[in-house]
Amino acid sequence: MKRNLTSQPHHTTDILVIGSGAAGLTFALQAANYAKVTVLAKGPLTEGNTLYAQGGVAAVLDDTEDSIESHIEDTLVAGAGLCDPAVVRFTAEHGREAIQWLIDIGVPFTSEKHSDGSSAPHLTREGGHSHRRIIHAADATGRAIETSLVDLAEAHPNIELFENYLAVDLITRRKKGGADNRVLGAYVFNRTLDRVEVFGARFVVLASGGASKVYLYTTNPDLATGDGIAMAWRAGCRTGNMEFNQFHPTCLYHPKSKGFLISEAVRGEGGYLRLPDGTRFMEDFDSRMELAPRDIVARAIDHEMKRLGIDCVYLDISHKPADFIKEHFPTIYNQCLKFGLDMTKEPIPVVPAAHYTCGGVVTDTRGRTDLDGLYAVGEVTCTGLHGANRLASNSLLECLVFGRSASEDIRTRLDNTEMPGTLPAWDESRVTDSDEEVVVSHNWDELRRFMWDYVGIVRTDKRLQRAKHRVDLLTREIAEYYGNFRVTNDLLELRNLVQVADLIIQSALLRKESRGLHYTLDYPEPDNSKSPQNTVLTPANYYKAPATNAKS
Ligand SMILES: Cc1cc2nc3c(=O)[nH]c(=O)nc-3n(C[C@H](O)[C@H](O)[C@H](O)COP(=O)(O)OP(=O)(O)OC[C@H]3O[C@@H](n4cnc5c(N)ncnc54)[C@H](O)[C@@H]3O)c2cc1C
Repeated sequence: MKRNLTSQPHHTTDILVIGSGAAGLTFALQAANYAKVTVLAKGPLTEGNTLYAQGGVAAVLDDTEDSIESHIEDTLVAGAGLCDPAVVRFTAEHGREAIQWLIDIGVPFTSEKHSDGSSAPHLTREGGHSHRRIIHAADATGRAIETSLVDLAEAHPNIELFENYLAVDLITRRKKGGADNRVLGAYVFNRTLDRVEVFGARFVVLASGGASKVYLYTTNPDLATGDGIAMAWRAGCRTGNMEFNQFHPTCLYHPKSKGFLISEAVRGEGGYLRLPDGTRFMEDFDSRMELAPRDIVARAIDHEMKRLGIDCVYLDISHKPADFIKEHFPTIYNQCLKFGLDMTKEPIPVVPAAHYTCGGVVTDTRGRTDLDGLYAVGEVTCTGLHGANRLASNSLLECLVFGRSASEDIRTRLDNTEMPGTLPAWDESRVTDSDEEVVVSHNWDELRRFMWDYVGIVRTDKRLQRAKHRVDLLTREIAEYYGNFRVTNDLLELRNLVQVADLIIQSALLRKESRGLHYTLDYPEPDNSKSPQNTVLTPANYYKAPATNAKS
C-alpha cells in the first residue's frame, strides 16, 4: 500500500524544539522574543519528567551562609572526578538569574515568613548539599514549573505547539568529509493521524529528556525512551558517559503504580528501611544508615533483594506523628492511599528504579552539539555538569540555565542562517503494515528486563557481555522490521530504546573501574592510577551513517 507523498504536510519554522519539558519550554520562551518557535511534544504537552519532579531546584539564593563556591564543590564531589569544572561554575553562577526568571513568571514556590514580616522562598536541603539551597513548591515542584511554562507558551504569539507529535529522525545535509554538514529539520510522526510529516527549520533544539525507560523499573513516565539521544547519534553526534544512570532507591512497589517515587526526604525525616520481617538492614552497608547517598542505598536494597529473593523492601515512617507525615508529604501520602496504603500506619513497599540519565548528547555550554544547527538542552545532554553522578536538584537547574544559554547563542546566529528549501518527503513506498506486532511488544519487554538484570545497579563484565549479545540480536531484528513495515509509535520508541541500550552497554564495558553510579564487581574500586576519563562514543567509529534520512 502506497501513500500519496505530495499530501504530506511540510511545516517550516525558525527553530524547531523537540520537547516541552523544563528545558524545551525555557528555551522556547526565551527564543520567542526574536524568532518563530515550534515545539513538539510526543504526548500531552505537560507530560515528561519535569512534571513529576518533587524535590526542587538547586541554586545559591541566600549568600549569607551559602556560596557559589560551595555549590560548585558539592557538585564536583558528587560527580566523582568527571564533572567539567568550568561547566559546573557556569551553571552555579547562572542559577540565581534562572530561578529569578521562574519567580518573575509566577511559579508558586513555597515561601516562609521572617520575623520582620517579610517573606522569602523557603529553601530546603537535600543529600549531598552542604547548605539549604533547594527552592521548591511543596513536594510537587516540577508540576508547578511545568504548568506555569505551558500556560505562558500557549499564550505566546510566536510559539506554535504540537501535541502527540513524535520526532522520528533528524533531516541532515551531509557532505563528503563532513564539511558543511548541517541539520535541516526533522521527520515527525503525527500520532493522531498516523502519518509522518516534515518539519524544516533553521535550527533544531533537542529537549527530549532522558532514557530511563530502558530499564524495567523506572520513576520516569513512559515517554522517557531516549529518542533525542538515539536521533542525535544516528545524525552523527557523539554521546558521553552513557554508563552513568542514576537509580533512585525508593520507588513504590505496587502492580498498579507506574514507578511512583517516594522522595528521599522520607528517609531524611526519619524513615527506616526494613526487610519483610521488620529488620533494619542499612547498618550492614553504611554507618550513615538510611541517610547514606542514593547510590549506596540503592545498592544495599538491590543486594538484599537478590540475596533473599524478595520482590521489595519496606520504607517505614509510621513511627512519626500522622499530622507530621501528612503535612510534609501530602502528594506521597495521597498517592499511597490511592493504592490502599496508609503510610501513617504501615510501611511502604519499595524497590529501586532507574531515575536519571546522566549521560547523553555531548554539548558545550551554549548547547551546541557536533552537528551544525543542532542544539541539545536538558536531560538529553551530557554537558559535563553531572560527571559520574548527578547531585540532587541540579538537573532542573541545568534545564533552565542551558535553555537560556542556547537561546542566547541562536539569537546571534539566526539572521545569518537560511531557511532550508523543500525537504525530501518521507518515503513509505516500499513498506507495508506490520503483520506481527508481537515482535515489537516482546522485544520491548525483553530489552527492559535484561537491562535491569544485567546492566542495572550492580554490573559485571560477564553480565554486560550477555546483555551485549542480546542487544545485538534485537538491533538486527528491529532494523529488519523497521525496513519492512510502516512505523508505529511503539516501533519508533523501541528502535530508540535498543540504540540507547547499546550505547549504555558499550560505555559500561569500556569503564574498567567503579566510579560514581557505575558499580562493577569485577573492578569494585575507582582506578586512581590515571586521571578520570569521560566515556565518549563517536558514531563514525561504530557504523557508516546512512546517506539519506528518508525511510526506504
Ligand atoms: C519522579 C522524578 C522526580 C524528580 N525530581 C527532581 C527534582 O526534585 N529536582 C531536579 O532537579 N530534578 C528532578 N528530577 C529530574 C528532572 O525532573 C528531569 O531531569 C528534568 O525535568 C528533565 O527535563 P527535560 O525538559 O530535559 O525533559 P522532560 O521534562 O522529560 O521533557 C521531555 C519532553 O520531550 C518530549 N519528547 C521526548 N521524545 C520526543 C520525540 N521523539 N518527539 C517529540 N517530543 C519528544 C516529551 O514529550 C516531553 O515534552 C526528577 C525526575 C523524576 C522522574
